[in-house]
Amino acid sequence: MKQVPLFIPLIEKEEFAAVQKALEIGWLGMGAHVDEFEKKVGEFLQAENRFPVAVSTGTAALHLSLLIAGVGPSDEVITPSFNFVADFQAILATGAQPVFCDIDEDTLSIDLDKAEQLLTSKTKAIIVLDYQCLLSDHDAIAEFAAKHSLRVIHDACHSFGSKYKGRPIGTFSDICVFSFDPVKAVTSIDGGIIMVKTEQEVKRLHQMRLVGMGQPAAVMYQNKRAAIRPYDVEQLGFRYHMSNIHAAMGLAQLLKIDQISKSRQNICRYYNKHFAEIPEVIVPKTDFEDITPFLYYIRVPSAERDSFRNHLSENGVDTGVHWQPGHEFSLFKNTRRGDLSITDRIAKEVVSLPLHSNMPQEVQDQVVEAVVSYFSLEAVNRC
Ligand SMILES: *Cc1c(COP(=O)(O)O)cnc(C)c1O
Repeated sequence: MKQVPLFIPLIEKEEFAAVQKALEIGWLGMGAHVDEFEKKVGEFLQAENRFPVAVSTGTAALHLSLLIAGVGPSDEVITPSFNFVADFQAILATGAQPVFCDIDEDTLSIDLDKAEQLLTSKTKAIIVLDYQCLLSDHDAIAEFAAKHSLRVIHDACHSFGSKYKGRPIGTFSDICVFSFDPVKAVTSIDGGIIMVKTEQEVKRLHQMRLVGMGQPAAVMYQNKRAAIRPYDVEQLGFRYHMSNIHAAMGLAQLLKIDQISKSRQNICRYYNKHFAEIPEVIVPKTDFEDITPFLYYIRVPSAERDSFRNHLSENGVDTGVHWQPGHEFSLFKNTRRGDLSITDRIAKEVVSLPLHSNMPQEVQDQVVEAVVSYFSLEAVNRC
């Protein structure tokens, strides 16, 4: 029996060819492929009022987004505690403090009523996360942000390729962030994209991702060093640019997005069909229409989660837990928070299951069989 990992990147001959070709060109840093990757992402999203800026990782994209939003020391940023640690670290990196908010039981996204109770004069921005194969209520979030004059950082690291009410994710949020790291549905090995509204923000981000150097991206986008002329440094910057190799990989993946979306949707539907029948299990509340699922999870009774995960492991199926809530980490023991009762309950119930693009039927069946057999054994034991 083969062990089924949680993630397998889709690497086929096209990815090998794209990376080899980029290596042969020999321009490894930021160059023409990065320009093309940004353009193709913009075209794919049909982003008319948003500009994509490519960076080295999703975490870098979050950090720069917060800075662009004007977040800094003495500010607070409200985030779900049920989120990846990268978001909390990005807030700390700006000098601001995270404030932990609870989630909604159905969307597993931030609970805006509870967020409202956490607002202070220091609150500058709110981070919202689309979790795994679900989407947040983005209309309600936009309304909330407008009402309270907050910036929104939309962490869409899980929802690249999905649509909210017919609108592509990345085309409507205040600032939207994608990740293309090795486990995401579409990968550039490592990479991130920030979607911003104005050319000024693009210009600032171009400098900030290149240690603040003022040389125009347009020159490097021709696989050329900027002119011999001296350049100016006007602002804080980081080494956050995307490399040509990564962009080449991302471009090869982007051509397969339809197949990636369809196959992952179908697997999620197959899982939902089987697992919805198990009384102890709660499945994601979605029909996966217009969703490019990053991951698939189920909720199991918290008292049984460890034995359930052991059973799956013994049956060759890897599992994961997304997330360990932020407020449980020692770094954040003094972080301000509100009522986190839903987070505390759900974080003990969630189990992520393997989801791969083009996952063969027998592998899907191995996962289904492992889950179903645990609960039928349990039922026998209880009799
Ligand atoms: C993957 C991920 C990130 C970070 O992206 P990297 O590209 O790995 O730096 C941030 N937030 C969420 C929710 C993620 O899943």
